[in-house]
Amino acid sequence: MPGFINTHTHAAMAYFRGLADDLPLESWLSGHIWPAEAKHVNPRFVRQASELACLEMAMAGTTCFADMYFFEDEVAGAAADFGLRAVIGEGILDFPTPNAKTPDDGLRVTGELLAKYQGNELISVAVAPHSIYTVNGENLKKCAELAQASNAILHIHLSETQKEVEDALRDFKKTPVEYLEDAGVLSGNVLAAHAVWLDRTEVRLMAERKAKVSHNPASNLKLASGIAPISAMIAAGVTVGIGTDGAASNNSLDLISDMKLAGLLHKGIALDPTCLKAREILKMATVNGADCLGLAGKTGCLEPGKRADLIAIDLNAPNLQPLNNIYSHLAYALHPGDVTEVMVNGKFIMQNREMKTMDAERIIKEAKLFIAK
Ligand SMILES: [Zn+2]
Repeated sequence: MPGFINTHTHAAMAYFRGLADDLPLESWLSGHIWPAEAKHVNPRFVRQASELACLEMAMAGTTCFADMYFFEDEVAGAAADFGLRAVIGEGILDFPTPNAKTPDDGLRVTGELLAKYQGNELISVAVAPHSIYTVNGENLKKCAELAQASNAILHIHLSETQKEVEDALRDFKKTPVEYLEDAGVLSGNVLAAHAVWLDRTEVRLMAERKAKVSHNPASNLKLASGIAPISAMIAAGVTVGIGTDGAASNNSLDLISDMKLAGLLHKGIALDPTCLKAREILKMATVNGADCLGLAGKTGCLEPGKRADLIAIDLNAPNLQPLNNIYSHLAYALHPGDVTEVMVNGKFIMQNREMKTMDAERIIKEAKLFIAK
């Protein structure tokens, strides 16, 4: 089957797994994650931690991921060493990041990445303003212009928490989606991560502008951000993919778990078991994921003309017996360990659960030596 596509993650945060749990987003970010990032994040850290993330993702059947972080050239390097497909986005913020003193500096880094990876078979580059609460209107416009001019996607966290919406209403007298629309940012190349607190008007606007959504159910539940109105989005015609978000907020990078969680969650809150059927969930994790990342021409399904980004599943696993319905099994019964083969762009990355391109033992050994404080 086609490999899974993780539409939103921060690969290098794999080293911050378990660092701070059971906290609301604001104090989790400002009290724990940002200080840890200020202390630890440098090119070497990003490379090593991204290798761990790539290993975890590949072993769970993910062949492509969209990343937003700092020193994204290192994320690209890790993905390319593995042979994974990735859409990298250097996080742009109004305040200094570990890799950029100013937002213009962040845009310059993004421009360099766009030039470096132009035409690259595995790596594509997104413009990645962090969010509307960390990037002002003027800088958001610059990001949108660069994305349009480079035919790149614009990857942004949007409407993740209720607080974000309340702040936008207070500061701009607009909801986050209306704010992007009025800034001229909302368009078909926008990939909005989370989109938890969208009202009906915003959902309609997202559909009209053909903006895409990355649904991150585990992260949204763990940070108690809320539950995105995915059924309404799909009904309105919004393309929705699935993402894990970073390992500091999920805490795993296994898209298979998030697929099942998405399926169960939306049935549960709608009190309607016909919500998000098994085939829809698989579509979100494959075809829609490719569409979200602007890669529909290359990957997401197995058909002539597309790249060979595929995985094989061991259908002898006890949890996949008897084979009453393959779609049901893939959406509701699959374990990451059932993925036996992973191929990206026609090249084997894993065969018989053995990594072919990278030394898994070395990566785990290095990870064990890192303890975040
Ligand atoms: Zn995120």
